[in-house]
This record gives sequence, structure tokens and C-alpha cells, in this order.
Amino acid sequence: MPMLQNVTILGATGTIGLNTLDVISRHPGRYRVFALTANSRVDELAELCLQHRPRYAVMLDSGAAEKLQQKLKGMETQVLSGLAALEEVAAHPEVHVVMAAIVGAAGLKPAMAAAYAGKRILLANKETLVMAGKLFMQAVEEGGATLLPIDSEHNAIFQVMPPARLSALADGGIRRILLTASGGPFRKSSFAELMAVTPAQALNHPNWVMGPKITIDSATLMNKGLEVIEAHWLFNAPADKIEVVVHPQSVIHSMVEYIDGSVLAQMGNPDMRTPIAYGLGYPERLKAGVNALDLFKVGRLDFEAPDTARFPCLRLAFDALRHGGTAPAILNAANEVAVDAFLNGNIGFQDIPRLIEAVLIAMDIETVTSISQLIEVDALARAHALEWRQLEAC
Ligand code: NAD
Ligand code: MG
Repeated sequence: MPMLQNVTILGATGTIGLNTLDVISRHPGRYRVFALTANSRVDELAELCLQHRPRYAVMLDSGAAEKLQQKLKGMETQVLSGLAALEEVAAHPEVHVVMAAIVGAAGLKPAMAAAYAGKRILLANKETLVMAGKLFMQAVEEGGATLLPIDSEHNAIFQVMPPARLSALADGGIRRILLTASGGPFRKSSFAELMAVTPAQALNHPNWVMGPKITIDSATLMNKGLEVIEAHWLFNAPADKIEVVVHPQSVIHSMVEYIDGSVLAQMGNPDMRTPIAYGLGYPERLKAGVNALDLFKVGRLDFEAPDTARFPCLRLAFDALRHGGTAPAILNAANEVAVDAFLNGNIGFQDIPRLIEAVLIAMDIETVTSISQLIEVDALARAHALEWRQLEAC
């Protein structure tokens, strides 16, 4: 790696994107912002461009890109639009590091482009691995990319795993992966209470500040389900070697248990700048602006088993992983529609797992063959999900 590394941030206006810019700003001689991308928020991206002066700014939406162009008149930043431009700035020959922080299935193609182009990929967009884990890991291998997990749990696991990628956990003397979960805002709510949850209540996460989609996923425990699938692909871990442990303080970010009885944990304040700095600096450690962990203030660490009767999304994700093939991609697409419908007040909180299960039952599960197949499956699952929603509304 050269002294000054060019960084593309996909999803720059999001929570992860902004945290990445915060860490980068602390190391000006080491990183240069090469490209920033966003979906449609012109003002926010314009502000970031003024601050960080990237070579490229990309908006998915072409109308938004035109407005951005107007706002950046006279600046050296080149404004582009569309999916192909997102792929272009992810794979650009001058880019060293790509932060993949677009939310949802929309992040898949740009992340694949970065993988084939052999970049250092800081992967926050877990949906890429859920939809296309096998193809993405193959692309990383073929492209000679370096994949560093940013999801706090997977970053924690990565930090306490043996350094080489294992073809089986047993080769590293590992018995299990213990994936921690905060339990979300409704950890103690009864089933009846969960039926009446509003979007505002679900958006109020106890420990983490995150974008709306992942915050709802955290409340349903689908986030943990997606993370089980993510861990499967990142660490070659079968479903029965991944145990979810509810740990409400979110201080232990996950653990690895070895056959000699050792359990290694990575701990810290719940602040995404820690895993982001780890990914940027790896194998070096960088200052991230994160406060020291005050164990006296934390006081105690609690652990409990997850309840899949109240939170069926976790069970659905385990089932999809065990089914394999296109099942996780179907699960992911149906979940995106369900979360959107819940946030818009069209379905209830406990309808989220009902909708996902209905779509999984309605669709045939196929062997994964290509990204284009997965994109078709994603579209079909969304169509089924919308149909279910309309039937339910009747
Ligand atoms: P967010 O909603 O705050 O930001 C999403 C970003 O993606 C925005 O910049 C938005 O402009 C862009 N975007 C949205 N739709 C797009 C589309 N169709 N095409 C192109 N760009 C699009 O989300 P976030 O919380 O930053 O999360 C980003 C990803 O990181 C998600 O996959 C999430 O699961 C993962 N993640 C987030 C956290 C966290 O603490 N926020 C933790 C772990 C993993
Ligand atoms: Mg996480």
C-alpha cells in the first residue's frame, strides 16, 4: 500500500459513510477521499464534497446528480450518476480502499466490482453476503481483493480469529462462534406488546445510532439473522457452529470459542469508528476518536438466549441459511419490502416475519448460478412481498 491511499466511500451520506469520513479526517496524510456516493440526498452530498474535495461524486439518481452539479459549479469534483458509475468508482485503478456502505441489495453490484478489481474492501453492506455470499467470496478470491468486515460483530470475530482464512473452523481449533446481539429495544416486550409497536418506538435503539433499515432489523432480530449468514460466508462457519448470545450492554462485540475452552472476546464502546479504523489501518491500529472503555461504568455484563418465538426473524434466517441456494436472497428481499412497509405504516411489526415467511414458502429455491439470476430472484421476491401486502390489506 502506498503512503497516501485513495478511498471511495459508497453510501457516504449514511451513518457508516459519515463515521468513515470522521476517521479519515483524523489521518490526513494517510487517506485521500477519492469518490463519494449517495442515493438522492443532494444537499448532504454537496456539503461533504465541499469539505472533502473528492475527484468524483456519484448519485444514483440522475436528476439528483444534475442538482449536485449545479451546487458544485467551479469545483474540480466530477459528478456522475447511475449504477454503472457506482461500479466505476468502486473499481477505478487509482482507488486503493472501498468502503461498501450502501444499505440493502443496492450495494451488491458496486461491492462485486470492487472485489473483481482487487481492492481493499471494507464491507459494511452485509446484504451483499446474504444475497450472494458464495459469488462474492469467489470474486474476492479471483480479484485478489482484501476483505475486511466492518459489521462490529464480524470485525470482532476477525480480530480474535487465527490470521489465515480457514477452510474449516476446526483447522483453527475453533469450536464455535458466539455472535452477540443487543436484543434491541423490545428485548423484554411480550408478544402482545410487540403487536402494537410503532415505527418511532422501533427506531429508538438502546445502544447504537444507525440508519433506519438496520435499526428496524435490530428490533426484529433480523439484523442478527443476516449476520449469522454473513458470518457463515466470512468465516466458513456452518449454521450449527454459530450461536447467538443476547448481551444487552453491547460491550462485547462477539467471541470465538476454541477447543481448549478459551473464549476470546473483542470489547469496546459501541462506536462504529472502532471497526472502521481497524479496517482502514489493518494490520496497523489507528486512532479513531473513540473514548476509552470505562469498565467501572459498564459495571456488569449480562448474557441470555434469544427468544425466536417472539422474534421469528432470527429463526427464518437460520432456516434460509440451512436451505442454502437462493433462500437467503429471497429472505433479504422480502425483509427489505417488509421493513419499508412497516416504516410507512402499512403493516404491523409482527407482520414483518409473517410476510417474509409467506414469500419464502411461495418461491422455489434454486441453486445460485450468477449475479443476474440473484437480481431476478430479488425482483421476484419483492413482487411476491408486495402482493402479500396487498392481499393482507384487503
Ligand atoms: P444509512 O441508511 O444511514 O445510509 C445508507 C447509504 O446508502 C446512504 O448514503 C444512501 O444514500 C445510500 N443508498 C441508499 N440506497 C441506495 C441505492 N439504492 N443506491 C445507492 N446508494 C444508496 O445506512 P447505514 O446505517 O450507514 O448502513 C449502511 C450499511 O452498513 C447497511 O448495509 C447496514 O446493514 C450496514 N451496517 C451498518 C451499521 C451501523 O452502525 N450503521 C453497522 C453494521 C453494518
Ligand atoms: Mg452488527
